[in-house]
Amino acid sequence: MTEKARVAIVKGERPLRQADIEDMVARAVELVGGLSGRIRAGDHVVIKPNLFAPYPPPISVDRRVIAAMVKLARQAGAGRVTVIEGVSVGTLMKRVNPERCGSVAQRGFGSIEVMKMLGVKRAVEEAGGEVLGVEDAQKVEVAIEGGKALHRVNYPKVVLEADCFINLPAMKTHTMTMVTLSLKNLQGLLDEKGRYFSHRDDLDQHMVDISKIRMPDLTVLDGLIAMEGMGAGEGGSPVDMGIIMASPDSVALDCIASMCMGIENPLVVGTTRIANHEGLGCGNPFLIEVLGNRIDEVKKKFTLPVNYTQPIDTLVTGVYPNIDLYIGGACPTCWLMTAMAEAMLAKIPQRFSLIVGVDPKVPPRLRTGLDHCFFLGECALATTGELRDLRNEMQLGGLDRFLGGCPPYEQLLVKLENILVDMGYLSEDELVEKALEHRKKFFDYYRSRDDTWEPQ
Ligand code: SF4
Repeated sequence: MTEKARVAIVKGERPLRQADIEDMVARAVELVGGLSGRIRAGDHVVIKPNLFAPYPPPISVDRRVIAAMVKLARQAGAGRVTVIEGVSVGTLMKRVNPERCGSVAQRGFGSIEVMKMLGVKRAVEEAGGEVLGVEDAQKVEVAIEGGKALHRVNYPKVVLEADCFINLPAMKTHTMTMVTLSLKNLQGLLDEKGRYFSHRDDLDQHMVDISKIRMPDLTVLDGLIAMEGMGAGEGGSPVDMGIIMASPDSVALDCIASMCMGIENPLVVGTTRIANHEGLGCGNPFLIEVLGNRIDEVKKKFTLPVNYTQPIDTLVTGVYPNIDLYIGGACPTCWLMTAMAEAMLAKIPQRFSLIVGVDPKVPPRLRTGLDHCFFLGECALATTGELRDLRNEMQLGGLDRFLGGCPPYEQLLVKLENILVDMGYLSEDELVEKALEHRKKFFDYYRSRDDTWEPQ
């Protein structure tokens, strides 16, 4: 009989202090075989947490879990422990940075900046490790053996050369992959371009391909405070789970973690299904041994992103009275980005035209002026015939309302916000206020769970 994959679940009782968290991490790791066979004296251990944005849990992994893992690795004999992370594309290019704002809203946070602000850098260094931002890491071009959507990427050399590689994801829902757990977390190791361009409709396959470069030797999941709803950023809401999970099999961990999130069939998660199919791990819960707490002892029914619970067109077409949408053949990513653009435009008491996808049918006369007409995505921009005439007319009028990209991702939202500021519908102050509101919401929540934390 083949050996079952093993996944540990350890539930703690609040309040959870540093020592409790260290015990939980140590117990979860021990349940799946401990570190003695994985780390030898003098080894270089590399840990990849999920530090998605400049917000504490549930948006980013708890600094105390990272520190606990660094400490454990050191106790197991590691000579050097490096904690490496590349923050999300939205954090690098879109999130307004109130610290740097003068009269104009400044955007973007680097990975080390986020690590400092969250107290991760200090916690890691006090535990005997060092931090490294993916932006600063030496990269090598890697050809991915067996890659289906990704074939070549620039990848941090330090991960390739690590004696032991530990993945440290958060437990969150995600609007593009349903959930983000172990497999999705590895995306943060790609360089900025790689992270940006993997956000396509084959994102799940991209995530699976990344894991083929270097499978983690161990995955430890921070499920102390998880996230539900429109994650993985500010749109999501915290769920008090109070668990740590561990497994040498990332796919098995994702399978069991998604069941703990109330997803009855874990194979509806694309990354788990594809990785299981490609033999990268076990996605079949009947072939996984769960150690420690049982799933039913910790399970909560997470609210999934709304685009996973109802057809995407019900969020996009016929929804907003002030938006005339002309959508042709479009991929799910373009539908999702249209939903996001519409959510922004719906708040403005003006009529807008939005043109999306391949060959959308646009009437001879729009109901808006050309200055209130936006093209979204490369397909709409490449459509010829009357649409080309329309674009030419806009260009002759000096109007750049072209929100390009395939997929049209974070840069679409940045450009749209900038245009709305130029048009006088949004102010720089409102952008900063919105960033401060988000900050307050997540900072206050986390401080109610960890009163030792202060942003730095
Ligand atoms: S621009 Fe076209 S190909 Fe690209 S995501 Fe949109 S609809 Fe799909």
